Amino acid sequence: MFAVHSKQQLDKGVTYDYADAFKGLTSYNHYFVNGELLARFLKDSGENIDRMAAMGLATTVEQSEQKAHLNDPLVYHKFNNFKSKMATWDAWPQKFEDAGNPVLTETWAVGLDYDPQAGLKGVLAKQASGEDLRIETKKVIFADGGYCGSPEMMAAKYADNDALLNLGERKADGTGIKLCAKYGANVAHNPVLFAHGCAPSLRINPMRRQSSVETLTNLPLLWVDQTGNRFVNEDIVYDFAMWANAAHNVQGQYSVILDQATLDHFRDHLVPMEDTFERQFLEPGQTPTGTVGRSRRFKQTLRMPSRMVKSSKPIQPKDLRTNWGCRSRPLNAPSKFITRLLPMGKMILS
Ligand SMILES: Cc1cc2nc3c(=O)[nH]c(=O)nc-3n(C[C@H](O)[C@H](O)[C@H](O)COP(=O)(O)OP(=O)(O)OC[C@H]3O[C@@H](n4cnc5c(N)ncnc54)[C@H](O)[C@@H]3O)c2cc1C
Repeated sequence: MFAVHSKQQLDKGVTYDYADAFKGLTSYNHYFVNGELLARFLKDSGENIDRMAAMGLATTVEQSEQKAHLNDPLVYHKFNNFKSKMATWDAWPQKFEDAGNPVLTETWAVGLDYDPQAGLKGVLAKQASGEDLRIETKKVIFADGGYCGSPEMMAAKYADNDALLNLGERKADGTGIKLCAKYGANVAHNPVLFAHGCAPSLRINPMRRQSSVETLTNLPLLWVDQTGNRFVNEDIVYDFAMWANAAHNVQGQYSVILDQATLDHFRDHLVPMEDTFERQFLEPGQTPTGTVGRSRRFKQTLRMPSRMVKSSKPIQPKDLRTNWGCRSRPLNAPSKFITRLLPMGKMILS
């Protein structure tokens, strides 16, 4: 949680100010920001940390773990207490009720009763029980998470939609934005991408992803776009947001090129490189790999393609899907080992 002027920051003598944060975030986001909203968020951000703590979500101001942000000012407030997370979460509806706010769970908005002259009269909703519900109101806030769960809206906004491994919330089917459009609101916007690699997706079960192969995608090796040209300084891999933009800019598809000697070296040596992700999805009983190269698991996983490469047998998509956990077109690579990357495996749309 980004914040300026939280109590913890003041105690630690952090001098980073609203103006610094406003300029920093505006420039980091290439001016694709709503300036007024950003300013208001920043003004409230320090107190938000206290509000979250009061709600049972205490955070600690810490340096970012993302390599590209190690030297950033002390602005990230990290939630560390994962043990209590679900209990805290479950207690929230009651807290809201106690404060006089009715909470309807398993209830979703499906329409509005809107009159161009009289304005909004009510929200129409459905409940899991199958019942229809009408909520009388003059105002509504759509906070339904966007539209990454709507294939049509995604395809309309993203030319590379088919290449994206969309990890976002399926429940976010664009209800709010569709209803706004239906009643004549201006819904023109620039879509936003957020890159993330540690999340479940509909297409790939993270437990079955080949983590050593995935490590190869999480390192600053040699990347080329679909025309075979290098398209970015690969150390961008250490900044998720910028990495997503770079990948999106090459239509979400690029390749990592490794020669056999490099691969052999990785098999036999620890290399002084870091996987950009510190978190890994593992089957129960497996131990996370904290290093790159020379692990036993790494050896085992590299044997399969080496054999295939030696026999010049084309790698078939089914092999890649089953054994490598990534999708690919057939490749015949007698002397080179080429992994067709799924950069969309690193992307989340939210
Ligand atoms: C796996 C994952 C990891 C992430 N990690 C990070 C991270 O480390 N740091 C970070 O800053 N961000 C992270 N994000 C992004 C962050 O979670 C989102 O940007 C943020 O939650 C978006 O908040 P929101 O309130 O807009 O939407 P959401 O949190 O998606 O909330 C929208 C809610 O609306 C509900 N809804 C949808 N349609 C309707 C309807 N018709 N009627 C009623 N309710 C409806 C949905 O069920 C949902 O509960 C991550 C996201 C994911 C998916």
